[in-house]
Amino acid sequence: MNTESLARHLACIDCGAVHALGYRLQCDKCRGLLELVYDLDRLRRDGPGGLRGAGLWRYAAVLPIADPAQRVTLGEGATPLLDCPRLARQLGVRRLTLKYEGPNPTGTVKDRSSATAVSAALQFGFAATSVVSSGNAGSSIAAYSARAGLRSLIFAYERTSAPKLLHMAATTPDLVIYRGVYDDLITLWDRLVEDRLFFDCGASRNAYKHEGKKTLAYEIAEQTGWAPPDVVVAPLAVGETFVAAARGFKEMHAAGWIPRVPRMVAAQAARANAVVRAFRAGGDITPLKIGYTVAEGLAAGDPGRKGAWALRLLRETGGVAGEAEDEEILAAQRTLARTEGIWAGPTGVAALAVLMRLLAERALDPAQDICVVVTETGLKTEAPPPERAGVAFDEASLRRLVVERLGRR
Ligand SMILES: [Zn+2]
Repeated sequence: MNTESLARHLACIDCGAVHALGYRLQCDKCRGLLELVYDLDRLRRDGPGGLRGAGLWRYAAVLPIADPAQRVTLGEGATPLLDCPRLARQLGVRRLTLKYEGPNPTGTVKDRSSATAVSAALQFGFAATSVVSSGNAGSSIAAYSARAGLRSLIFAYERTSAPKLLHMAATTPDLVIYRGVYDDLITLWDRLVEDRLFFDCGASRNAYKHEGKKTLAYEIAEQTGWAPPDVVVAPLAVGETFVAAARGFKEMHAAGWIPRVPRMVAAQAARANAVVRAFRAGGDITPLKIGYTVAEGLAAGDPGRKGAWALRLLRETGGVAGEAEDEEILAAQRTLARTEGIWAGPTGVAALAVLMRLLAERALDPAQDICVVVTETGLKTEAPPPERAGVAFDEASLRRLVVERLGRR
C-alpha cells in the first residue's frame, strides 16, 4: 500500500451526503464542509506495517493524491517528537513531549498542508495557487508552488515579520501586501475562489489542503509505537491544524491502528479567542474584531465553519480549549529555549503557553502523558537583536571574564 492512495470519496460533515472525489469545496445539498473518506477496511487489513518511505508521503495511503508523479515534496515531515524531561520537571508533568515542526523545509507545520494543497492543484490541472496569509502559509505555499512549477499569488499581512516577507519575495514574483487583519480580506478573497482562476490554498474550506497536516497525528502515533499520548495540545486559529490532527487520530482509531484517541486541547491567543469563548459558554462561535497578537499565525477573529468543526471535535473528544496572553507566550518562548534548546516562534509556542496556564489552573492532569505541537521555528521571527556593542579583550581581561562567568575549577 506504499504508493496507492486509499481516498474513496468526499463526505459532508453536516448531512453526510457523499460526493465523488474532485475539486469541490462544499456540499451540494447543504453547503457543509467536506472531508475525505478512505478505505478503512484496507487500512485495517494492511495495518501500519505496510508503510514505506520517509517523510510526509510515507502516509500516502491516507492522503488524497492518486498519482505519485504529482506528489510535490521539499522533504517535509518526519519531524522529531522530543522528550523534554527538564521542562516536564519544571511544569510538574510526568511526561512531556514536543512535536517540533521547525525542521520542516520552510520552518513550519504549514509545509505539510502546502505539500498536499499544491499536489492537489496539479492533480486538478490548475496553473496557479493563492492564499491569504499572516506569514507562514504564504511563505510555504510560495515555496511549494515554485517547486511544482506553478504561479502563486500570495497576500501577506502588512505586519508580517521581515524574514517571512523576504522568503515570500524570494519564492514568488506575485506577492501583495494587504492592509488590516486576515479577517478583513479573507471574505472577499473567498468569493473569488469560485471563479477558479487559482487553486484555493486557504485554510477555511479545502479538504485536500488540511489533509497534509493529518500526518502530524500519524507521525506522533508511529513515534510512540502506535500508543499515542493521553493529551495532545494543538494551536487553533481557523482550525486547520487542530481539525487535521483530530481527524488523523480518529481515522487511525477507526482502522484499529491505535487503541484510543487522545484528548485534544485547543490553544488560542487570548487576543483571538473566539473558540475558547464559545467552548466556555457552551454555544456557537461569535466572530470577534481583533487586533495584533505576537502569535501572528493565530490572529483570526472569525474562524468560520472550520472553527465550528474544530469546536465540535473538541466536544466529541472531551477536550479543553485554553488561551494565553502575549506576555505568557513570550515567557514560554524564553523558557523553552533555555530549558530544552528549542527556539520556536511565538505562534509555534502558543500551545505550550496554554498548557502552562491549564496546568496552573488544574484543568489538566499532570500525571498524564502530554504532547504539545510546536508549529514553527523561531528563526523567522522579527525582534530587536540583543545588545551587540563589541568588547576589545586582552588575555587578562578575557581570563577575568571567563572566570567571572563560569567560576574557578
Ligand atoms: Zn451536506
